[in-house]
Amino acid sequence: MTGRPEVLFPLFGALTALKGLGDKTAQLLEHMAITRPRDMLFTLPQGGIDRQVRASIRDVVPPCTVTVAVTIGAHHVPASKNRPYRVTVTDSETSFQLVFFHARGDFLQRLLPEGERRIISGRIELFDGIGQMAHPDHVVTEDAAADIPAFEPVYPLTAGVTQKLMYRATRGALDMAPPLAEWIDGPLLTREGWPDWKAALQAAHAPQSTSDLSALAVARVRLAYDELFAHQLTLALARQQMRRKPGRATVGTGVLQDRVLGALPYKPTAAQSRSVAEISADLAAPHRMNRLLQGDVGSGKTLVALMALLIAVEGGGQGVMMAPTEILARQHLEGLQPLAALAGVRLEILTGRDKGKERAAKLAALASGEIQILVGTHAVFQKDVHFHDLRLAVVDEQHRFGVAQRMELGAKGQAVDVLVMTATPIPRSLSLAQFGEMDLSVLDEKPPGRTPVTTALVSTDRVDEVIAKLRGAIAEGRQAYWVCPLVEESETIDMTAADQRFKSLRAAFGEGVVGLVHGQMPPAEKDSAMALFAAGETKVLVATTVIEVGVNVPNASIMVIERAESFGLAQLHQLRGRVGRGSAASTCLLLYQAPMSETAQRRLAILRETEDGFRIAEEDLAIRGAGDMIGTAQSGLPRFRIADLERQAALMEVAQSDARALLAMDPALESPRGKAARVLLWLMEQDRAIRLISVG
Ligand code: ADP
Ligand code: MG
Repeated sequence: MTGRPEVLFPLFGALTALKGLGDKTAQLLEHMAITRPRDMLFTLPQGGIDRQVRASIRDVVPPCTVTVAVTIGAHHVPASKNRPYRVTVTDSETSFQLVFFHARGDFLQRLLPEGERRIISGRIELFDGIGQMAHPDHVVTEDAAADIPAFEPVYPLTAGVTQKLMYRATRGALDMAPPLAEWIDGPLLTREGWPDWKAALQAAHAPQSTSDLSALAVARVRLAYDELFAHQLTLALARQQMRRKPGRATVGTGVLQDRVLGALPYKPTAAQSRSVAEISADLAAPHRMNRLLQGDVGSGKTLVALMALLIAVEGGGQGVMMAPTEILARQHLEGLQPLAALAGVRLEILTGRDKGKERAAKLAALASGEIQILVGTHAVFQKDVHFHDLRLAVVDEQHRFGVAQRMELGAKGQAVDVLVMTATPIPRSLSLAQFGEMDLSVLDEKPPGRTPVTTALVSTDRVDEVIAKLRGAIAEGRQAYWVCPLVEESETIDMTAADQRFKSLRAAFGEGVVGLVHGQMPPAEKDSAMALFAAGETKVLVATTVIEVGVNVPNASIMVIERAESFGLAQLHQLRGRVGRGSAASTCLLLYQAPMSETAQRRLAILRETEDGFRIAEEDLAIRGAGDMIGTAQSGLPRFRIADLERQAALMEVAQSDARALLAMDPALESPRGKAARVLLWLMEQDRAIRLISVG
């Protein structure tokens, strides 16, 4: 796979190779990310205009676009340059006027010779009760009627680029498109009735009606599938690469796991047991594990992670668990250390705060294998951190990690198995797009005995009532979080808002009752604020969204979120997930500032309706659209030109299994279909995949 296949050269050449397209236009098109004929090809019409010839304009309801045969009547040359030039025309039943501003008479005489027949097409409007068509889009002789497409595609535009130009340029690009060997699985193609690649492009650029423009039109579905398939093939290649690396077979004895399970006051849920079994099978296999554990807040991912880490220890090795923040790392430490102690396993924490002698001692204990499980922040992967025999890396809450970073992580240590945990339930189509190279375990069941959280919307005007109620709740021994608004994603402003709320609540409830935690506090202060709240010393914890993920204080049963309308749905769901963890009935109060936008209302309504994170995620996708849901740059989620993850979600699933099936049969992509798939990868600029094939 040395270079781009020759058949694709023209499509990747200069845009100016297209007829009638010069340097200046090429520059303008760059604003639409069109720099080569290939991009032109994948820029599909977003609308269409019906230009079927009708007998008369009489029955149409202006304003609308009509196409009609007319006899040209008198030209009315304006007396002044500021007045329009008018031409009366008559169709089979009525007369109307063509109107031209700043027109040149000689040009119009030639275009519309009096007494002759022409077919004209344009937008008709009523002006003083008379039909007018200003600057018709098309004027042709009756012989040339076919030059006006019965249904004209409408392309996205940028300043200085016209529909005519886009039409011509896309035709030019279509002429350049070579027929390509089929990369789609034959039976799939037949079952779906999809056209081949070139025919699909031709059809997508020549819609015959509005339904051809829909995301469900076969030509478009096929082209969308091509994009998804190329993406999934890249992920499947990455997966194959991972699995091919020599792994270590780590087989647990169950001894340590049993000690922990025996000491727990509850039984694992069926979903937890299933996930542990999947992980343990991966660990025991000779290839590398690359698995995602997805579970809603409170679904009990920590226990699954611990079991996995214990298997690593049972098998004679070490495990590491990395959290995105110091707070979460400490919390894991607090939750896991007593359990590890039950199993007689040494578990320690390493973060950026470890310095000097203490750090050196920990590093030495790690290198000798005395520390069997390490919990920490990114610090656990610093260069000078050496493990004695690292078998498993668990990455917690890393939904913002891209594929590339995950692969780097796997490169640490000899043959480390990787388990990524995410508490952000995302729609299946997105998780396939984002984590498609991984195997998936889902905790789709919550531990029993949870009391549902009552969610209520309260206008900010009533904040005094909320404070009064809170006072009563505190008197009953309950604890509350109070989350302050996220203002323009700026930590400094967040901090001020939180600080002010902290002061006002302290004034209301008294000294020592209210705590404060935000991202810019010195770490030690943050920890002690968290610790005081967890211990029940402080009753109210004012916070910014630093408490969003993972934080676990079961006695806290009230969550107040200020300016809830400014938060995203997923984030609100995460925040609410901080309560409802104990046996007491919990409440979530969403304080909003009226008036709310329609989407904000919809978001908050969904939140009131359900606590099912996966359902909330699907709704979020429907409201926001895929592009918005995850920061594209960090997520490694590509921007698709044609595919629409919202409406074509099911296709992603098919693309994944088809891509994996193709690689299973033809790992080096050498069969005829494999070779065709390589061309697709080049066509879709899946550089990473191409590199993977070259090294493989
Ligand atoms: P997650 O990380 O998925 O949000 P956690 O692992 O923090 O969830 O678990 C949430 C709470 O549920 C913890 O207090 C934990 O002890 C408890 N828990 C976990 N598994 C079970 C279970 N099978 N039955 C009852 N409680 C459980
Ligand atoms: Mg957790």
